[in-house]
Amino acid sequence: MWGKKHKRLAVALTCADWRLHQRKVDLNARLAKLLEVEGVDLIAVPGPDGLIRAERQSEWHAAVAQIKLLIGAHGPVALIVLAHQRCAGHPVSDAEHDIDVAATARALKAETGYMQAVHAAVAVYRSDMAWDLKPVAQY
Ligand SMILES: [Zn+2]
Repeated sequence: MWGKKHKRLAVALTCADWRLHQRKVDLNARLAKLLEVEGVDLIAVPGPDGLIRAERQSEWHAAVAQIKLLIGAHGPVALIVLAHQRCAGHPVSDAEHDIDVAATARALKAETGYMQAVHAAVAVYRSDMAWDLKPVAQY
């Protein structure tokens, strides 16, 4: 823990895509509101909901290690995997993103042994500047 006050934090595994990280989208604050926390640590990789595919095993293990470090350092009260539609890193249909992000959140819970909620959500495309956050599952 850094500092004396223990903030309520969460850790998000999301996509590196710049469109999600623009000031107008305000992703960190919106994730914080969704998860009822004060701040959200971000791990950003291309296509996070594709990480559990066999060919991305080394990336998956790296992301899990980074998330475990943040769990140990910040004691987050929730984890979330946030995928998004029209993702170049994991180019599947909208329906498949819903399925894959849920599977990734479940795998993350199993892999980290994290005891609190692991959420799955999808950023729904409205435009490059506008995304809706859709909760999909919780484990
Ligand atoms: Zn993406």
